[in-house]
This record gives sequence, C-alpha cells and structure tokens, in this order.
Amino acid sequence: NSMPIIDSLNEEIKNAGLEDSVSVCLTGCFGFCAQGPIVKVCPDNVFYVKVGSNDAKEIVQEHLVNENLVERLLFHEASIGEKVTKSEDMAFYKKQKRIALHNCGYINPEKVEDYIANGGYSTLGKCLTDLSPENVIEEVKTSGLRGRGGAGFPTGIKWEATKKSVSDQKYVVCNADEGDPGAFMDRSVLEGDPHKVLEAMAICGYATGADTGYIYIRAEYPLAIERLKLAINQANNLGLLGKNILGTSFDFDIELKYGAGAFVCGEGTALMRSIEGNRGEPRMKTYSSTYKGLWDVPTCSNNVETFANIPSIIDNGGSWYKGLGTEKSSGTKVFALGGKISNVGLVEVPMGTTLRDIVYDIGGGIPDGHEFKAVLTGGPSGGCIPADYLDTPIDFDNLSALGSMMGSGGMLILDNNDCMVDIAKFFLGFTVEESCGKCTPCRIGNKRLLELLTKITDGKADEQDLIDLEELANTIKTTSLCGLGKSAPNPVLSTLHYFYDEYKAHVVDKK
Ligand code: SF4
Repeated sequence: NSMPIIDSLNEEIKNAGLEDSVSVCLTGCFGFCAQGPIVKVCPDNVFYVKVGSNDAKEIVQEHLVNENLVERLLFHEASIGEKVTKSEDMAFYKKQKRIALHNCGYINPEKVEDYIANGGYSTLGKCLTDLSPENVIEEVKTSGLRGRGGAGFPTGIKWEATKKSVSDQKYVVCNADEGDPGAFMDRSVLEGDPHKVLEAMAICGYATGADTGYIYIRAEYPLAIERLKLAINQANNLGLLGKNILGTSFDFDIELKYGAGAFVCGEGTALMRSIEGNRGEPRMKTYSSTYKGLWDVPTCSNNVETFANIPSIIDNGGSWYKGLGTEKSSGTKVFALGGKISNVGLVEVPMGTTLRDIVYDIGGGIPDGHEFKAVLTGGPSGGCIPADYLDTPIDFDNLSALGSMMGSGGMLILDNNDCMVDIAKFFLGFTVEESCGKCTPCRIGNKRLLELLTKITDGKADEQDLIDLEELANTIKTTSLCGLGKSAPNPVLSTLHYFYDEYKAHVVDKK
C-alpha cells in the first residue's frame, strides 16, 4: 500500500518545487497498524493516518506549502474526542517505551547511512576497541535481559556459558522463525531495523568467541529477507562484517538460512538440526547448546527481539536496563496486539505494565461496544487470562503463575462473543498439525485431546469427559519431549480453570 503513496508524495513535492528541501523517507512499521498507512511529517512530528495516494497533493499543498494541518487525516482519539496531532501525545504511544523498536518508523531500513547516523555500529566499535569480551558479557548479565523468544532464559548466562565452552569453532544463531499465528514482532524488527540485529550478533560473536552467525528466518517473510540480504551486503562492503571488522583482528560473517514453515523449527534444538540440513526435530536437552549445538560445537542462540535490545544495553549500561521493568523481568517487551481490540498493532512496553493499560490505554479497548472477556498470551500454546486479572503487571513470572506464559509476544484479545472451548480447540488444532511426531504424548496425546474437545463442542460429551480432558492435558504437559508438546495443553487447562462453566454448558447430563 505504501509504495504508491511514496511515489505520489515525491511527485507532488516536485510539482511544488520543494525537492531540494523536503525528502520522502521509507521506514519500517510504526506499530499503529489499525490506522495505517501512516505518513509522519518531520520535524513537526505530525501524524497522518489512513493515507492514500490521492491524499499526497493535499498533504504537500496544505502542510508543506501553506503550513496548515490536513484536519481530516489527523488521528482523533475517540475516547476523549480531543484532536491529537503529535505521536508523543497519542495514548497509543504514551505508555510505550521503544528500545527494540526504537528505530522502526524512524529510519530507512534500506540505508545503512541512516542506521549509522542514528548511532548504529558505534556500539560494536566500542566493544572492539574499549571492552573485553568479559566486559560485554558482564553488562548483558547486569542488565538481567531474559530471552524474548519465550523461555526467558538469562541472556548473559547463555553468552557466558558459550564463552567458557572450549572449541576452535563456535556459532551465533538468531532465531527468526516466528511461527505463532498472529505474531509479527520479529518480522517488524527485521523489516524496520535489520542492521541492529546484525550489529548485536557481531557483538555476541565477539563476546563468545564465535566467527560465524546464522539467521534462521521463515521463507514466508520475503521483505524481511530482502532487507536482511541488503543489510548484510552493505555491512560487508563497509567493513562492519566479514574479515578484520573496523580494522581489528575480529572476523564475523552472517549467513541466512530459510525455514520452510514448520512451527516446531522455532524450538532451539530443532532449528539447529534444520540449519544443518537435517529434519527439524527437537532432541532431549541432556546437554546445552552452549556446549554442543550447531554441528556439535558451542552455539549461542537468541531470538530477534533479544538481539535488538543488545546495542542499547551496551550503550547505556546493564544497570540502566535493569532499572526498567520488574525485579525479575527487566527491560521492555514487544507485543503483537490482535483480536477484538480497537488498536491492532505492535507495542513495546516496560515489563510490569498491566494488562489493563495495554488493552484499554494503548489498545483503545474493545470495539463495537463489546466487553473484554480474556486475553490469550503466549501464542497457540499460551493461556487465556480472564478479566479478573486485568490489573496484573505483565512479566515472565506473573504470566506463568496465571497458567499462561510470555511466549514470544502474541496477545490475542477475546470478547464476550467468543466461546472459550472453541478458542482452546482452535489453538490445539494448530499444535496438533504442527507436532513433529517424535514423541508419543504429543503425537497421540494431543490428537486424543482434540477429539475430546470436538466431542464436547459437538454436544456429545458428559462430565467424565471433562475429567478425562484435564487428566490427559496434564499428562501431555508433564511427559512431552519439547516445549511444543509441553505447552500445547495450556489453552485447554487455562480455559478449564477460568471458564469451567462454558465447558459444562456443552456437556450432556447422562444421569
Ligand atoms: Fe515433536 Fe511434539 Fe514431541 Fe516436541 S513434543 S518432540 S513437537 S512430538
């Protein structure tokens, strides 16, 4: 949608004779998807929404030539009826803190000059000239950063373990196999700010002693792939990747590997088997990948959002990052807001922000006068959290305590029209499809669980089936081999816990 708008703006700017003083910059995602396409006029910071190619003439003539705002394209905050023109005044952005997404919507992701002009690659330079690998690891440890791919493992500890593993060859892996339905956090970072991820991977390579990095990205992300390829070429040409980076003795190359759409390949050990050219199946975690990962050598694997936090952590210090968020979950988290919510989009908030703030202040509440019913966090293997817990501060531990999980950041809002049994069945259907079939509890157990759910939604189940459903879900959770199987019953267990009445409503009384 945006490319014709850029062409029209350029044409109108030329017609107005402003081409020497005004330029049109392509950017990545602003996050405010519900109001796109968006045109932001800088330095005024005026935000025009739902712009079409036909609006280009009016924006140029009114805003740039006559210096008037184009009223009809301004974003109006429906809740307060007040006209808002600047992004920092908008409720959607007010409670956000953008670290991983800092450059998204601000720089042209296809121009390395833009990234460098905003401080890009200076952190890598600082690491190579002023900091030892141990210093870098110490900052990451101090920050308290936990893996944003879902498991929440402390990133600094992982980097330290890779550094301590003795080997002539080590690897860095970036997990960009974002497979959760409705999740687009990593895609937006890679499309909007690809150099940041490359810089962070090189910093990781320097800290851990690796000279090669792989980005495992879904083949269904063509724009992210195109921009990553361009960014890798640009960085290689400028000596920011490759041999003797920035004139030092540090070498680091990055290669792209494409995933073919198997959800299970987002699991760390399956992903590594897939990079090696083998079938993407998880393995028992009897040893850590930091000791024996890709091709059985020490491998440090982090997801896109985790890497996107690294340059800011090294720049501002680990203590700065640790000061954001909650005690055990520092920093910020990016969420993809979807479902029954007014402001569908991508948001980044400090850990500890409440669900209510996200749903109502940032998300704009539930559209069409409907009522909030629950939020599913953690993607298809997450849990459904009901309205009673809207004031829960979001962090790794609080979400687990509620029977859900952080996951990679998908957040699906459900309203009073949604049947929670149907929701559980829908997501279980997805994980059944995506099971790799290696272990019995997941391969067969989840299928039987889905059959039970179908029996319930078909109105053919009795009370005993509900008891069997819970027992089987718990067995699968505790006996499956990898995270996919272990977490697949979460939507069932959480809805059984919080919405048991809805299950009962489907059940036939056979007494
Ligand atoms: Fe495969 Fe499921 Fe077992 Fe994981 S839990 S190894 S996805 S069968």
